[in-house]
Amino acid sequence: MVTVIIGVIAGVIFASLVAALVVRGGKKKAARILPPEERRSPDDLRLKLGEEAQPADGSAQALLEASDSITVDVEQAEKPRIALEEPEPTAGRLVRLRSRLARSNSAVGKGLLSLLSRDKLDEDTWEEIEEVLLTSDLGIGPTQELVEALRTRTRVLGTRSPEELRALLKEELLKLVDPSLDRTVRSLREDGEGPAVVLVAGVNGVGKTTTTGKLARVLIADGRSVVLGAADTFRAAAADQLETWGDRVGATTVRGAEGADPASVAFEAVRRAKELGVDTALIDTAGRLHTKTGLMDELGKVKRVVEKQGPVDEVLLVLDATTGQNGLVQARVFREVVDITGIALTKLDGTAKGGIVVAVQRELGVPVKLVGLGEGADDLAPFDPAAFVDALVGG
Ligand code: GDP
Repeated sequence: MVTVIIGVIAGVIFASLVAALVVRGGKKKAARILPPEERRSPDDLRLKLGEEAQPADGSAQALLEASDSITVDVEQAEKPRIALEEPEPTAGRLVRLRSRLARSNSAVGKGLLSLLSRDKLDEDTWEEIEEVLLTSDLGIGPTQELVEALRTRTRVLGTRSPEELRALLKEELLKLVDPSLDRTVRSLREDGEGPAVVLVAGVNGVGKTTTTGKLARVLIADGRSVVLGAADTFRAAAADQLETWGDRVGATTVRGAEGADPASVAFEAVRRAKELGVDTALIDTAGRLHTKTGLMDELGKVKRVVEKQGPVDEVLLVLDATTGQNGLVQARVFREVVDITGIALTKLDGTAKGGIVVAVQRELGVPVKLVGLGEGADDLAPFDPAAFVDALVGG
């Protein structure tokens, strides 16, 4: 009897313990799922950075200390939910956007073909051909090379059917654009060590921030994970703009308060990218002259500071194709401070002349890697020389 009573008491104690544990577990779970009104807003989760937080000496330690006060974007999971977009695949984008490119350039292609089809290719005709090429922003050197090649080849051809001429023109233009150049944006470390760092540079108004946002979509469409760094801290709007681009595709954005030290923000973006284990840290740099230091000094500093954590893999210079020769002048200035590894040519959908692709590659000795063909989110295309030449010459 006593044994039975002890057994019953032990059973009751055991059952109560189990019940208590179940209730605790349930409470824990319930605590994790807060109703929306009780969740902290993204602003609560940000740490504010003032201008005073700029590192005095730019040393890694000073930067780390300064980076404590960078406005670190909250984890995507903690942001108000927005429907994530799926960027369009990157393959074939230039073909899709071909009609935009052709709009202002098909006249050049047509003009050249009609000149080359004349019965007699005399000196006057060659001069006209040269003029058409020069007005297409090709530049003097490439124009002369092309005219020379066309002269030789039309002489050899004898009869010139429109198809033959079209094929010949395409071949020669393609040589100038140079299909052998490596146009991949270096967004993945081959050794798998840390994030690849891509700096995006350019003067205000060329489409730099937009291109950075669009490039994040290109990379994500290609299967990469990205952290964005809003190091253009001179314009608050630029950081907001970039953050919106990031939010749309689920990429974290690291930003600073307006006027914060761009180098610290860039440093923090790379640190964060490392921490999150993403493939690429994509950093939008300042495009305006700072009141104290020049834009170029600032860009050089951003690069040096980022390099404290590892090499910069890609420096993309964004140029507005509609600015023609002016764009080349900008390119020269940038080349003085950083080793540019690729060019993103924007606004080729407007009045820009396609020849600028060749001219800018020649000027900088680096390939055009991306072209902007509109204001749509996926209107940035990896540059494809053959599709480009096809669009110029038609057919
Ligand atoms: P930033 O000052 O260089 O950062 O310039 P933004 O990125 O703010 O862009 C300036 C303007 O250029 C915006 O209205 C963009 O939509 C526009 N833009 C950028 N790229 C292109 C492009 O490829 N085509 C067209 N048509 N507009 C573009």
